[in-house]
Amino acid sequence: MSLTLTVDGPRWRAHLESVADANPGIVPVAKGNGYGFTLGRLARKAQWLKDRHHDVTALAVGTYLEIPEVATRWDGDIVVLTPWRPFVEPLDAALAGRVIHTVSRLADLDQLLTRAPGSRVVLERTTSMRRHGMTGRELWEAGEVLRRHSGARLEGVALHLPLQQGNHLGEVGRLLTDAVAADAGITTVWVSHLTAGELATLREQYADFTIRPRIGTQLWLGDRGALTVTATVLDVHDVEKGDSFGYRARTAPKSGHLLVVSGGTAHGIGLEAPTGESSIKARAATIARGGMDAVGFVRSPYSIDGKQRLFAEPPHMQASMLFLPHGAHVPAVGDTVDVRVRYTATTFDRVVVT
Ligand SMILES: *Cc1c(COP(=O)(O)O)cnc(C)c1O
Repeated sequence: MSLTLTVDGPRWRAHLESVADANPGIVPVAKGNGYGFTLGRLARKAQWLKDRHHDVTALAVGTYLEIPEVATRWDGDIVVLTPWRPFVEPLDAALAGRVIHTVSRLADLDQLLTRAPGSRVVLERTTSMRRHGMTGRELWEAGEVLRRHSGARLEGVALHLPLQQGNHLGEVGRLLTDAVAADAGITTVWVSHLTAGELATLREQYADFTIRPRIGTQLWLGDRGALTVTATVLDVHDVEKGDSFGYRARTAPKSGHLLVVSGGTAHGIGLEAPTGESSIKARAATIARGGMDAVGFVRSPYSIDGKQRLFAEPPHMQASMLFLPHGAHVPAVGDTVDVRVRYTATTFDRVVVT
């Protein structure tokens, strides 16, 4: 009765270990919906890697509110990727020593260290992403601020790079020059989205720096073959042309079957792009071929017999209605069908690790 993510456990764990080994100092990223697995499960898996003596000592979360989800399942350091701001609630004393704050503004650095003098901090340098971070000049001034707060523990500099592949080294080199010039004692660089080749080159060129790659997608979702997403068929109804159905009392354009399957808006199942191209000419061609999207049906992420099927109407909260044309193989109630999802936007009812 559910939208289920089934994980081939041995294959997934072998992938996690291989990514950890290929990326010494890796910082697994567990944020948001836990890449579909849930934050708690990712924290336990990070602990598992640590217990198996892979070089995993810090786990990254996206926000301060995610800390409690991971802190009881993971016993190492916790890096918060969203930069600290003055409105962040103070940390529990028991956690303060394990949390590494990302600081992206000079004023925040001073305030954080005034409020919590022994804080562990990573200074974020802006990149071509232009999301958060300090300029080279500000990084240098941060060194001054740190000298005024002698209890502060500087854990390095953070660089959040765009997703473009294989083209980061020039930028990283320039940014690291700033980190050296800041004269703040920066010896660790926390980076995202570098390729294996770039990381290797960086380790060679900056042998006196410790490189800490922050990796989410490539770690948790890097071996898609280990993951299967299925939905349960909850109901099947035969319809004749002209029969009405659904919240909006649409009528069936031809005879076939309505399938009610698990998975809806609450899971993140959304409408996909229509099957036809958007141009009038393309739509006319689809109508000429008798395509169902010509009557307003929209492609769904569910497939049956290897074919992507159409929504009979927009997804409901926890279930979706599909239209199966006459002649197609009709699954039975209780059967499962495959679903293609965006893992980072999907909440599964169940995650089953085999
Ligand atoms: C999410 C995030 C990552 C991990 O990104 P993936 O593409 O999932 O590997 C790394 N660094 C920062 C700052 C992030 O927000």
